[in-house]
Amino acid sequence: MSLPPFKVLRPRSIDEAIGHLDKHAANIRVLAGGTDLIPSMRQRLFEPEYVLDLRRIPQLRGIKQRPDGGVEIGALTTLRTIERSEFLRRHYPVLTEAAATVASPVLRNMGTIGGNICLDTRCLWYNQSLTWRKGCGFCIKKDGDLCHVAPGGTKCWAAFSGDTPPALLCLKAEIEMAGPSGVRRIALQDFYTGLGDSYRKLQSNELVTRVFLPRETANYTGVYRKLRVRGSIDYPLAGVAVVMKRASNGNGVGHISDARIGITAVNPAPLLVKGATELLAGKELNDALAEAVGDLAAKTAKPLTTSALTPEYRREMIRVFTRRAILAAASN
Ligand SMILES: Cc1cc2nc3c(=O)[nH]c(=O)nc-3n(C[C@H](O)[C@H](O)[C@H](O)COP(=O)(O)OP(=O)(O)OC[C@H]3O[C@@H](n4cnc5c(N)ncnc54)[C@H](O)[C@@H]3O)c2cc1C
Repeated sequence: MSLPPFKVLRPRSIDEAIGHLDKHAANIRVLAGGTDLIPSMRQRLFEPEYVLDLRRIPQLRGIKQRPDGGVEIGALTTLRTIERSEFLRRHYPVLTEAAATVASPVLRNMGTIGGNICLDTRCLWYNQSLTWRKGCGFCIKKDGDLCHVAPGGTKCWAAFSGDTPPALLCLKAEIEMAGPSGVRRIALQDFYTGLGDSYRKLQSNELVTRVFLPRETANYTGVYRKLRVRGSIDYPLAGVAVVMKRASNGNGVGHISDARIGITAVNPAPLLVKGATELLAGKELNDALAEAVGDLAAKTAKPLTTSALTPEYRREMIRVFTRRAILAAASN
């Protein structure tokens, strides 16, 4: 499939980039690594007049420790850089583990953390060629008003399928966005709408510029598990991130003092499992407790027929992965 025609804009600073976005807001798309945007443009999901290539803006790259003990990651930092960062591996292991599962090494060399956070939602009826979509009937997410997944429904159920956001949610990450009226910083949790079509709260003249990880969640143990069709290169069809802090009881590690569970690919947004922290906090971990949290995660997952595997199987795998990931995080 060929690309539609477009003009490339290559700003050298964040201000210049925002100027372009503001001027062409209705007809421009941001390109970071391009690993999701370019295939989508080939499928005619987007046909912008302008593509804003961020790759010549050095301020958007890199991992820096902050004076407050946390860390900031530039939106254009590649997933490979994150995966290979010794600092992140030591202090925020759930993030390096999640980053290392994205797609394949070649795509991780190009794909960025900002692109992974902003990743478009996915559905069997959406990520298809124009001919295919036209043949089946356009859907709510693009050009139509019906939903093939939930017939009669008015909500889009396309699934958010990025691997790093559930890990970032567990770590209490915040993101910075820059636009014509300045810079704003919000909890990543507040970035997603929960709708498959308009899935993120980003104005068309705004850029995601940085991700912040707080000191508070540094050194939590962490585990990420994902289900995919091809182990070597595939989006998650169910993904679970777990972070945990154990109290010291004098004879080594004791009860869980804090924990969070994040899930992906089974809802239109990545989500923290409500109630999991309360269920785990202050307890000694055992199989029954891990099982109970797995049940809670499975109840939070609302997969529909948006992918090749059945919703029932994906929900069950959320339960299984949550239980396994909790036990693994506790033994790290
Ligand atoms: C075969 C294949 C397998 C894949 N497997 C996985 C997988 O297993 N897990 C996974 O998570 N992803 C997967 N992907 C998707 C993709 O490679 C990653 O999500 C990657 O992190 C996207 O980053 P990017 O920089 O390439 O984003 P791009 O493609 O450049 O952009 C993605 C979206 O984010 C927007 N965007 C990017 N950066 C910014 C910014 N700074 N500010 C505002 N908007 C921005 C773009 O406009 C676009 O809408 C796969 C892709 C392919 C082709």
